[in-house]
Amino acid sequence: MQDLIKNLPKQAAEKHNESKKFFAKLRKKPPKNLDYIMQELHEEEFERTDCLECANCCKTTGPLFTDKDIERIAKFFRLKPQQFISQYLRIDEENDYVLQSVPCTFLGADNYCSIYDVRPKACREFPHTDRKKFQQISNLTLKNVAICPAAFNIVEEMKKRIK
Ligand code: SF4
Ligand code: SF4
Repeated sequence: MQDLIKNLPKQAAEKHNESKKFFAKLRKKPPKNLDYIMQELHEEEFERTDCLECANCCKTTGPLFTDKDIERIAKFFRLKPQQFISQYLRIDEENDYVLQSVPCTFLGADNYCSIYDVRPKACREFPHTDRKKFQQISNLTLKNVAICPAAFNIVEEMKKRIK
């Protein structure tokens, strides 16, 4: 898995133009059953992929935190939201709350998330490959395929399945 992750940015860069063209076409004319296809591809891929062997998203990017995330996680630590913010978060260029540093401070050495049950919504949904109207997040996906081996495989499989 570690070799695969190391090679992923290069592999994603090699496929970038092809994938970009594929998504441009997909946005113009998405198949009627795209939500169904994505659900299937997502489930198939995550039956094969063990996120605990990877954790590359938690190590390299980290989520954004919504107000609801902050309230929920602060409560878990018995902190006031403002205390949680000053201890762990910063505001990024897009005015979103993000982690002060990566790898995520809540990631254990065993790749387990220490706040798993209350983790941010963005963590629960990453890499968003089972999202409805998937064609609408193609720019984000083109970035995610360089981080997430599962997202990379799903996009490659999409290209084979949707002509
Ligand atoms: S979601 Fe993707 S990047 Fe994150 S741990 Fe799972 S396979 Fe790795
Ligand atoms: S909160 Fe948990 S799931 Fe989210 S990035 Fe941190 S370790 Fe990963």
